[in-house]
Amino acid sequence: MANNEDIFKKVIAHAKEYGFVFQSSEIYDGLSAVYDYGQYGVELKNNIKDSWWKAMVQHHENIVGVDTAIFMHPTVWKASGHVDAFSDPMIDNKDSKKRYRADVLVEDYLAKLEGKINKEVSKAAKRFGDSFDKQQFITTNPRVLGYKEKTEEIKKRLYGAMDANDFEGIKTLIEDLEIACPVSGSRNWTDVRQFNLMFATQIGSLSEGASEIYLRPETAQGIFVNFLNVMKSGRMKVPFGIAQTGKAFRNEIVARQFIFRMREFEQMEMQFFVRPGEELKWFEYWKEERMKWHLSMGIPAENYRFHDHDKLAHYANAATDIEFNFPIGFKELEGIHSRTDFDLNAHQEYSGKKLQYFDPELDKSYVPYVVETSIGLDRTFLAVLSYSFTEEKLEDGSERVVMKIPPVLAPIKAAILPLVRKDGMPEKAREIMDKLKMDYMCQYDEKDAIGRRYRRQDAIGTPYCITVDHQTLEDNTVTIRERDSMKQERIPIEEIAQVIAKRLKA
Ligand code: ATP
Repeated sequence: MANNEDIFKKVIAHAKEYGFVFQSSEIYDGLSAVYDYGQYGVELKNNIKDSWWKAMVQHHENIVGVDTAIFMHPTVWKASGHVDAFSDPMIDNKDSKKRYRADVLVEDYLAKLEGKINKEVSKAAKRFGDSFDKQQFITTNPRVLGYKEKTEEIKKRLYGAMDANDFEGIKTLIEDLEIACPVSGSRNWTDVRQFNLMFATQIGSLSEGASEIYLRPETAQGIFVNFLNVMKSGRMKVPFGIAQTGKAFRNEIVARQFIFRMREFEQMEMQFFVRPGEELKWFEYWKEERMKWHLSMGIPAENYRFHDHDKLAHYANAATDIEFNFPIGFKELEGIHSRTDFDLNAHQEYSGKKLQYFDPELDKSYVPYVVETSIGLDRTFLAVLSYSFTEEKLEDGSERVVMKIPPVLAPIKAAILPLVRKDGMPEKAREIMDKLKMDYMCQYDEKDAIGRRYRRQDAIGTPYCITVDHQTLEDNTVTIRERDSMKQERIPIEEIAQVIAKRLKA
């Protein structure tokens, strides 16, 4: 079997070949960590976004949406802490000239230790068979205990140094662990330096005294600064939420993983305002709700897991990530954070405006606490794409690549294919197409042999191919071919829409 890195490469190549994702400005050799979505990519992306919007805004009567500007008053980013603290510690390898996030180098080392533990466990599970007690094994096996102890010690040093902005401490840790550059293999490192991730630009012409502003690094602050506007104009009552999707920009140091880590990307965020003291209850609620949404798309549960944070930001009192099993391993897809009253308090202080809610039941005003759900649209796209990519060997010995995209997210829902380009079949197929396209994204294709057309639709993940043949002209039936099973059925033309609708709900 191909290893995961090979699969990742294949997914990236497939995404380009079939119009899902292109490198930005490719004819000029591209722009690093910036990507464009192609004709099928944009459909898939919109479908994911729609599904999120429906689940959050349409299905929750107490959540409303906004669409706020990318540019914001510069003081917003002072209040949010981004000017002073939205930075990563970076380190360069002097031989390869590659730049890394210093904390990520250490975290990769920790992931290797975890891999070693898992290996011991699976070896033992094989050895002991049915009588294997995993819990007992990982709490008593000396080798596992050794790895665990080492892990804890490294975490303590890393997080301690990060909290104290102790760059020398991080560098010493990298040296002590003898971490080498994956490219050059050398341990010839520069010092660790702080690197702010916000992009800055100028607003106004220079003659009128331009000032520096930032491209927003997250969409959440647009929600916080509109808290009062939405609460008042929407007559919102705590608990309530504000949601938005939109672009965010970060000058990422490590940007080598396709659309997993981009410099321009899209977030889907929701801030839920609650009574102080009730935030942990809502945190649990949103953990569960968000996982349900992921599972509702039809990707099996074993591909997701929660990862509770060991290290909480100073303003948070609970935080977890939903991680997905990407070909590059389990990685963060979404963050759910209980952020207390940190953001609203900070904006209250910097703006001098009262950002409070009068709670009629308690007969008092307070700054609401916030539980946030924050998911990357592009990362979700990558999750769907990499899960769906399937290479199959068929019974007749041939091979096919099929994108098993959950039907509700598929870019094209049905392809309408006349068997041959004559005898009135194209006309009949067009008739079906013209009707169906009012409700579903469809594609008409009459070029090449039917088998090749099926393969093309498999490659973009179209759940249904509808073929018009000689019999169609006689009795108004078509064959409908299902993507995953490749089974074909004959059905009357008027049932096509129903069959598709049923599958999209399943
Ligand atoms: P990471 O630790 O991977 O840098 P983060 O913890 O900084 O992510 P958040 O600030 O919590 O991420 O952002 C919320 C979500 O936005 C993430 O879960 C991720 O899906 C997405 N996201 C963040 N940075 C990027 C990026 N550079 N490219 C694509 N998606 C991103």
